[in-house]
Amino acid sequence: MVRHLNVKTKSRNEFVDITDIVQEAVKDAGVTKGICFLYVPHTTAGITINEGADPSVQRDIMNALSRLVPHEMNYSHREGNADAHIKSTLVGNSVNVVIDEGKLVLGTWQAIFFCEFDGPRHRRIAVKFL
Ligand code: ZN
Repeated sequence: MVRHLNVKTKSRNEFVDITDIVQEAVKDAGVTKGICFLYVPHTTAGITINEGADPSVQRDIMNALSRLVPHEMNYSHREGNADAHIKSTLVGNSVNVVIDEGKLVLGTWQAIFFCEFDGPRHRRIAVKFL
C-alpha cells in the first residue's frame, strides 16, 4: 500500500520540514520496524535530509543551489522552469529512513525536507513502508 502526504508550498523556492508529518504517517501505519521510503513524483521538486535545528543551513543550501543554477539562463527548455528541473535532479527525489521502535531513526540535527523549486503549488509525496 502506498500512502500520500500533501504539502502546500508558499514560495517558488522553499524547503518544507516534513519530519513531523512523516513521523505521524509511521504512527498511523502502526509500523514499528523497517524502512520508510519517501518518493517525490514531481519533476521540479525534490526531497533531502539535512540540518533542521538552524534554519540558516536551509537558506545557505537554497542560496548555493540558486548560484549553481540561475533562474535566467540560455536554457533549451522554454517553460521558464529549467532551473527547477535541474535543481530537482541535483537534490534527488527519494530518501529512505530507518524506523525503529515506531520512530524515524534520524540524527539529533537531522530533519526531512520537501524541496520546492517551482512553487507555490500543491505537492504530493508517496510513502511506502518496507
Ligand atoms: Zn518545465
